[in-house]
Amino acid sequence: MTATVGLNIVIAVALGLMALLCAIASLSLRRNVPLAWLAGGLAVGTMQTLIVTYAQGSVLEFISAMAMAPLGFWLANNAIHSLMAEKRWRRQFGVAFGGLCAVAIVLFAVGAPFFYQVLFVQMACTLAMLDAAMRIVSGVKWRLLDASLLISVIVLALLRAARIPLLIWYFGPELTFPEFNGSSLELALLAGESLLTLGIITLVIAAIIAETIATFRHQSERDGLTGLLNRRAFDILAGTPALEGGVVIFCDIDHFKQINDRFGHQAGDDVICSLAGIIGKTGYPAGRIGGEEFAILVPDGSLREGLDLAEMFRARFKDTTHAALDDDTRVSASFGVAAFTGDATPQTAFAAADRALYKAKRNGRNRVEAEHPPATPDAQTPRQVA
Ligand code: GH3
Ligand code: MG
Ligand code: MG
Repeated sequence: MTATVGLNIVIAVALGLMALLCAIASLSLRRNVPLAWLAGGLAVGTMQTLIVTYAQGSVLEFISAMAMAPLGFWLANNAIHSLMAEKRWRRQFGVAFGGLCAVAIVLFAVGAPFFYQVLFVQMACTLAMLDAAMRIVSGVKWRLLDASLLISVIVLALLRAARIPLLIWYFGPELTFPEFNGSSLELALLAGESLLTLGIITLVIAAIIAETIATFRHQSERDGLTGLLNRRAFDILAGTPALEGGVVIFCDIDHFKQINDRFGHQAGDDVICSLAGIIGKTGYPAGRIGGEEFAILVPDGSLREGLDLAEMFRARFKDTTHAALDDDTRVSASFGVAAFTGDATPQTAFAAADRALYKAKRNGRNRVEAEHPPATPDAQTPRQVA
């Protein structure tokens, strides 16, 4: 008995500390939602463990078993739901879960036999875990982490679901709370659930950490306005040698200051996004390297391919109508293309691409110019496409 009390206190302290840790982590990660739900679930687990230890046989233990179990399962469901960012069937789940809990409360209020009350509580808990499993399936990326989480949640749902036939065929309608709570079957199921819950909490925390790192990584590499690579990420990419050489395309929107002046900064942003959309669609690594300046990398591409691609960008952008501007205002961009050789980094072509872009501006804008890198002195003279 003393050993059980000691063990329960250790579990309560561990759960409480984990709840505190999750709450602090949630706040410091700008109110990370899954961690906040998890903190709530762990706090409920802490209270339940303390009540089971210190208030055995009291009405508090009954309330804890009947009310805190569904609350804990609901919080866990929310943690998984927000982690998977899956919104489908949310309302339907809320109605079904709330309905089952409401029936249990009404049965408790009218003094219906314990058997019926606990039956609905178990159904609500099972539903919460089945719904969580469905959310994992629809949001799963099939990493080992997701697969382990899915299996654990399904087993937890099965352990809860197992109580329903047990209640009906094993315990029967005459069942009382002390009989149910003290039965070796329920104790075995609870022990299994506790172990599994610890595993699930660890997996959820691991999934949250993985998701948070991926989000911050994405944010640190991407430009907030266009979603293309930012200057830093593009420079890192362009600093890596390419085995087969390739082409760099630089691009700058023409007379962009006038767009901002005439139509406002927001309209200017829309124009920047529309060119970024045209560039991004091709799937080549591309970055926004300045206000209205972009760079595109064509690994393994020849100068000819680079010129064709830049010409395609130029023509599409010039033909684009912009909702934020006048109907007949068209915007153009100038392009500079330069090749780099095998084993060199794309960065070695930056200066040449910049010169080609400058030439395109000087020669009247809305055009594509090319220049060979200094490493190829025998190259043809720069070619003009537009
Ligand atoms: P040019 O044809 O020679 O390129 O002329 P330009 O007017 O486009 O000149 P430049 O490229 O130097 O102008 C860049 C302008 O882009 C200056 C700045 O006000 C504007 N700009 C920079 N970043 C942003 C941005 O994020 N949004 C908007 N709307 N404007 C920006
Ligand atoms: Mg510029
Ligand atoms: Mg410009």
